[in-house]
Amino acid sequence: MPQFDRDHVAAKLDQERVTVLHQLHELGANDAGELTGEVDFGDAFADAGAATAERTETIGIVESLTRRLSEIDAAIMKLEGGTFGVCSACGKDIETDRLDYRPTSVKCVSCKSAASE
Ligand SMILES: [Zn+2]
Repeated sequence: MPQFDRDHVAAKLDQERVTVLHQLHELGANDAGELTGEVDFGDAFADAGAATAERTETIGIVESLTRRLSEIDAAIMKLEGGTFGVCSACGKDIETDRLDYRPTSVKCVSCKSAASE
């Protein structure tokens, strides 16, 4: 069994989930990362090129937030399913320090560095 403080991890994941959702909403996206709000970039910028650039940047941020959200959800599901803290590559326990620092980690340190991510 991996060693970790379940309550601490659950609280941290929950908190991070709230933060990510808040950021998505601020960008005019819904929980699924779809831009729903009628954020009219055209009004804020004098030329269309700048508006397009801004929109592209927003979509990029939304995409990375959505990715982060799915990592958090996966970690929460693992926590509930009892497989949290197990390396997805080698099946060994993920280091406690690592889980504490980054609860969404799915690989242990050696597998992570082997994959050179
Ligand atoms: Zn591993």
